Amino acid sequence: MPELPEVETFKRYLDSTSLHQRITGVEVRDPYVLKRISPRELARRLKGRRFENSRRQGKHLFVRAGNELWLRLHFGMTGWLQYLKRDEETPKTARVLFSFANNRRLAFDDQRKFGEVELIKDMDEFLQRRGIGPDALDVGLSEFKTIFRMHRGAMKAILLNQKLIAGIGNLYADEILFRACMHPATAAANLSDKDLRTLFRATRYVLEKAIALKTDFNRLPKSWLLTHRGKRGRCPRCGQALKSATIGGRTSWFCAHCQKRAHSKVTSAT
Ligand SMILES: [Zn+2]
Repeated sequence: MPELPEVETFKRYLDSTSLHQRITGVEVRDPYVLKRISPRELARRLKGRRFENSRRQGKHLFVRAGNELWLRLHFGMTGWLQYLKRDEETPKTARVLFSFANNRRLAFDDQRKFGEVELIKDMDEFLQRRGIGPDALDVGLSEFKTIFRMHRGAMKAILLNQKLIAGIGNLYADEILFRACMHPATAAANLSDKDLRTLFRATRYVLEKAIALKTDFNRLPKSWLLTHRGKRGRCPRCGQALKSATIGGRTSWFCAHCQKRAHSKVTSAT
């Protein structure tokens, strides 16, 4: 599922391929991914315009196509972007295709169709209406600490809550907690100032490193949990078998040896 690093990678890809060219048409191959707009209306409103720039917040990508006109893309479970060459065959799972004057096309590809394509007038109004919190890479240390101090519950659930910090999903939340040596079920209330600093640094490091590697699974460090998680997976740090548990409604993978449940503040936490 595309999380902040993947969507940032899509953003950079879109910026480097699809900006400033006249849009000559929009082909909707599956209207299921369209939200609150018909295929015809989408094409009518974008035709003749250009994608000018883009912004990302959390897992949402917003592409400006004029005054009060933004294309919003959400990648759901399997969404991604592909800039097609002149005669390149259209992928079977391309749902929406934006054609440009240079005969190239940008495909919104989404096998499982949980993605969303929409036109909106105002990005900030959208974010507010949906209650989407600040982007994980825009949150500074003091704001980060405040978020964790103001909310109760397992730290993993807080990391995953898009209303508090936007962009982190299940895989990167587990990775951040692994790096910080913290058990995903640790109660946020038990975290000390030092713990929060460690967690903040781990968050920045994991997200920035994944973006720098263009989220290429094969290039991710072998010291990361991501390349080991799953049944029969072993901790890259201590070699013990990884464990899984449902926390915050999601399957978490972690090392029970390296990631201690109770942290400094409370030693008898359950
Ligand atoms: Zn371990």
